[in-house]
Amino acid sequence: MIRTRFAPSPTGFLHIGGARTALFSWAYARRHGGRFILRVEDTDLARSTPEAVQAILDGMHWLGLDYDEGPFYQTQRMDRYRAVIAEMLATGSAYHCYMAPEELERLRDTQRARGEKPRYNGFWRPEPGKTLPTPPIGVQPVVRFRNPDKGTVAWDDLVKGRIEIANSELDDLVIARADGTPTYNFCVVVDDRDMGITHVIRGDDHVNNTPRQINILRALAAPVPLYAHLSMILGDDGQKLSKRHGAVSVMQYEEDGYLPEAVLNYLARLGWSHGDDEVFSMQQFCEWFDLDHITPSAAQFNSEKLNWLNAHYLRRTDPDRLASLVRQRLEARGVTLGNAPSLEGIVGLYRERVVSLNGLADAAELFYVEPHPRAELLAKHLTPEVLPPLSDFLARLPDVAWEAKAIAALIKESAARYGLKMAKLAMPIRVLLTGQEQTPSVDALVVSFTRQTVLARLAARCSAELPAAEQP
Ligand code: GLU
Repeated sequence: MIRTRFAPSPTGFLHIGGARTALFSWAYARRHGGRFILRVEDTDLARSTPEAVQAILDGMHWLGLDYDEGPFYQTQRMDRYRAVIAEMLATGSAYHCYMAPEELERLRDTQRARGEKPRYNGFWRPEPGKTLPTPPIGVQPVVRFRNPDKGTVAWDDLVKGRIEIANSELDDLVIARADGTPTYNFCVVVDDRDMGITHVIRGDDHVNNTPRQINILRALAAPVPLYAHLSMILGDDGQKLSKRHGAVSVMQYEEDGYLPEAVLNYLARLGWSHGDDEVFSMQQFCEWFDLDHITPSAAQFNSEKLNWLNAHYLRRTDPDRLASLVRQRLEARGVTLGNAPSLEGIVGLYRERVVSLNGLADAAELFYVEPHPRAELLAKHLTPEVLPPLSDFLARLPDVAWEAKAIAALIKESAARYGLKMAKLAMPIRVLLTGQEQTPSVDALVVSFTRQTVLARLAARCSAELPAAEQP
């Protein structure tokens, strides 16, 4: 049974890189009918916040990355970590170290001065035939893991290939601080063991922790999981992805009007490939996903591609769902959707023209709030020559059939009566109805409004500009 986990530290938001790690771990479990576990690594009390935990849960929920077990919180497992530490002290795989922090600092300074790598010198480490000094009174010891001092620790990373480290490079890791609290690497080990994790899929910033974790797992006679370390995500400019590159928080994408399926599809291709396939559902992804096709090199974030995918999914989303997503956005902006045209219709009209739900909401908003065309747009398009045909159009509007074809014919006719091209009359109609020059085709636009609204919006201006239509 494959068991994977996502183990974020709740110190900010759910980062796009974290979301990709979660997605790969989730997909691997789904692909193999395994279990996906969520574990919140919140032992860093100074940096972990409840808001950050919530941000992770929200992000996972929005993306639809459902977990089978958890969330487990490390802060709720302290007794368990203490019990394992006691076990290790009893079996001799860990020991008390009374070296004061200042003393350790002095030791390191001396080593550095000699051009050596600073490391603990094993002063308090029990050895056969070694007599340890009497522990100083009143000093709370830390607990150190007794790292093997010979040989190497190696694993076949499922992304990076074989990695091997000499044990002489690793010193005896502190697994419990003087106040008794367990340290980060140790908690990860106990959890991976207790949770029966078979595949650790995580960011490659943890590669350095892996040999230490493997050594502790071995000391506990626990099975060693397989490791897959994912390379970093870089921004468009090749630098480590950060806020400078725009949104890096998953929920910021939600706010910016991206569909979760677009973000997921985008993340799936970030460092993993299935031939040339670019667009696929999560169901398809879970059938395809494997660890063999993850690239060991860093993946580069490409906002344009994400926008392209989002536009793609906007066009394919069920209109009712799209309308409901846009409705939520409009309501959040305080726009009242009165008895104006149907949002489904408007969404259908605009979804080919925008790349985000916000773009769709911007377009839809025009239908529900009074437009305030800018003065220069009015001056540009409401010229003296278009006022007479516009009034003519307005005068005949009450009787026209409310369908795009008839509207197009009427615009053409009214324009022709004054020797104008249809396009010339279409512009002021667009501007008066929406306050904008860029809209879908004018006939489709007009019929998306109610007849009453069109009459009102055009009349408000026409009568102000020209009391009555001059007859040709
Ligand atoms: N908590 C670690 C992080 O957020 C992940 C640890 C792991 O996956 O082993 O980077």
